[in-house]
Amino acid sequence: MSQEILINVRKNLFEITPYAPGKPISDVKREFGLTDVTKLASNENPLGPSKRAQQAILEALQEVNRYPDGGAVLLKEALSDAVGIPTQQILIGNGSDDLIKLTSETFLNPGDEIVVPSPSFSQYWFGAKLMDAKTVAVPLTSNFEYDLDAMLAAVTTKTKILFLCSPNNPTGTYIREEALQRFLDLVPSHVLVILDEAYNEYVTEADYAQGIDFLKRGYNVLVMRTFSKMYGLAGLRLGYVFGPMEVLDAINRAREPFNANMLAQVGAVAALTDLEHVEASRIQNRAGFDQLQSGLSKLGYTVVPSQGNFLIFDTGLDDRALFDALLREGVIVRGGTALGIPGYLRVSIGLAEENERFLGAFEKVVSSIGQKV
Ligand SMILES: *Cc1c(COP(=O)(O)O)cnc(C)c1O
Repeated sequence: MSQEILINVRKNLFEITPYAPGKPISDVKREFGLTDVTKLASNENPLGPSKRAQQAILEALQEVNRYPDGGAVLLKEALSDAVGIPTQQILIGNGSDDLIKLTSETFLNPGDEIVVPSPSFSQYWFGAKLMDAKTVAVPLTSNFEYDLDAMLAAVTTKTKILFLCSPNNPTGTYIREEALQRFLDLVPSHVLVILDEAYNEYVTEADYAQGIDFLKRGYNVLVMRTFSKMYGLAGLRLGYVFGPMEVLDAINRAREPFNANMLAQVGAVAALTDLEHVEASRIQNRAGFDQLQSGLSKLGYTVVPSQGNFLIFDTGLDDRALFDALLREGVIVRGGTALGIPGYLRVSIGLAEENERFLGAFEKVVSSIGQKV
């Protein structure tokens, strides 16, 4: 592109590397001439979307000539009933990615700072970069637990937002109730704490810190959730955030009027009522975790305990070579190098036959790539 055309582009945009999504099934089929590909790379619900949601979406199709409800009234009411907070404390996004970006646009000026755990979800960094703010990354401990004291120590007068992801993507580790309580009591009041709970619905541990409990007790926290993971509606794009009214009112000013589409809203309302789908997904996920853990353990690998619908483990090998070799076997996972944990693989928990296929393919490619170190 010529210099004149580029002249007004903000410099920070050139420092943004595009998000690297899980490789699409269609790409892998085409590249390797495969007909049957298993994708365990984007933490999608392998049971598919709720049947109730599908039915509601079909019915709503006839109305897509109309604009969606920009205020998402029915969805907010359904969420309000489900969690017991007023609708004014809920904001809807085009995925929680949208809400991360909106929050960044609302609060960050050039030179401001955000504090994030590392490794974690890359969109926090993206939001900061977009606004020309600085990301301060605080490493998790050696067993991928949160170091909340280190995160507190990373806060400066310039810190505007501090992100916590629990369960954390890509590690699956989570923050305990007591630890969050202590942290929120110590964090300075000029810092907005955001809890990204994209995998909240999968959690089975009793000491998991529920962000919403802290919001109800008056803490200045935002709690972000999504319909993309357990609810199986990733393709529709629907996320939501709970928070203090004044904070959400500010973020709402940066929001596009129709940021959540009609089918997503309708599907989400229906999915919330489909408790059977939720329960089946949770049970399937735990069984899938156990299956992958025991299969990998038999091969000599130790899995990091995960409360999400994915797990990581150290392969002791070059994850990029493993990733490529697995693609040739028709299995898509995520390589750790791209996620900040070289040598690891992140595997989304699939159906029993998908997990089996991964285990078989992994065993095969490991023996071809080299001995475990
Ligand atoms: C998948 C994911 C999200 C969000 O997804 P949307 O599809 O944009 O709602 C947010 N945070 C984390 C940590 C995720 O893994």
